[in-house]
Amino acid sequence: MLEVLPWHQSQWDQIQASIEKKRFAHAWLLTGPEGIGLEHFARQLAASLLCHAKTENQRPCGQCRACELLSVGNNPDIMFVEPEDTGKQIRVEQIRDMIDFIHLKSQYEHYKIAIISPAHSMNRSAANTLLKTLEEPPGDSLIILITERPSLLPVTIRSRCQRLDFQPDYSKNTLAWLAENIPEGTSPEYLLRFAGGAPLAAIELPENHHIEQLNDLLNDLLLITGQQRPPVEIAEKWNETGARNVFQWLLWLFGDMLRFKVNAPARLFYPSDAWETLKGLANQLDLDRLMRCYDLLLNNYGLALGQVSYTVQGLFEDFIILWQELSKSEDNT
Ligand SMILES: [Zn+2]
Repeated sequence: MLEVLPWHQSQWDQIQASIEKKRFAHAWLLTGPEGIGLEHFARQLAASLLCHAKTENQRPCGQCRACELLSVGNNPDIMFVEPEDTGKQIRVEQIRDMIDFIHLKSQYEHYKIAIISPAHSMNRSAANTLLKTLEEPPGDSLIILITERPSLLPVTIRSRCQRLDFQPDYSKNTLAWLAENIPEGTSPEYLLRFAGGAPLAAIELPENHHIEQLNDLLNDLLLITGQQRPPVEIAEKWNETGARNVFQWLLWLFGDMLRFKVNAPARLFYPSDAWETLKGLANQLDLDRLMRCYDLLLNNYGLALGQVSYTVQGLFEDFIILWQELSKSEDNT
């Protein structure tokens, strides 16, 4: 994909303007929800800087030597820094290699570019080592940090990067783009609402059966309330589905229960029976208790994906027991 995605256009223009005014920063921090395409944007920017024959709006040509090498993952002027295994940290040795790399001279008299993703997975010494380079970056270097969770990055790192935020997007252009990228007969509005305004996540929805997952989670919440299944069994099942997925969905569901309580429109789209279930669950608790559930979810989500390893199943159990307790005590009042 060499196009600038429609919901990236304003950020793209902002970067291009800074290059034109010769105020282009050596370090950029890209943040936004999962599925908004931060990595796509970073690659696009790198490609544009390395391309020998940019087309209109500074888009990479896709055909020159630099573009060709980039497309097969072989461009010597770009380096990707990622955890060696999913969920693991980025180690200090990786950052040291990256620093050596950006100090080398570019093969084609261009930028040396490093993309660190997800940046919040750097451990403390990796972040400290990076900090020194951010303070004195070499001439034609560019470091792009990508994270959905900028608050986990040390403030010293954040303050040395130019920040670009990407928001959920429901605009007409984005819907039109989505319509071209999903199977015929599927509603782009429906999918985009389900994906919380993250179009690349919306594309994944039909194959990943996320819609079934929503119903399944609502059903689990009902089972917990009715004490029909022990917490440990449900926690086990959620653990198998995956921490990121389940916590994200639970946060959306509880976020929408809170919105329902204050008469604000829901963030996700619900088929009518699912909406009735959600309202029923929300009605079991007052606003305070719902907030407590939401807080615990948010906290445990942070712990589950954070740098210290916790048992995810235990984090799910914490939440299940709280939800069960609170919905039970409300019944008794
Ligand atoms: Zn090119």
